[in-house]
Amino acid sequence: MKFFYLSSISDENGNFQIHEKECPFLPDALDRDYLGPFNNGKEALRRALSINKKATICEHCCEKKIAKSLLSQKEN
Ligand SMILES: [Zn+2]
Repeated sequence: MKFFYLSSISDENGNFQIHEKECPFLPDALDRDYLGPFNNGKEALRRALSINKKATICEHCCEKKIAKSLLSQKEN
């Protein structure tokens, strides 16, 4: 499980990014909302979309993890 946050500042596309706790692009404590613990960015996105319809996953911390989990599924 990883801890995810939803940014309360929109990016250049007007979207609100979801970040993992360890992401270097995680906004300051005042500029983010705690989403909770999730297995991956996709699950966090599902929760975030119920809060903010413009939620999107951060390509830096979330996309990578999704790609990795898809890869490990193939190996099994
Ligand atoms: Zn991120």
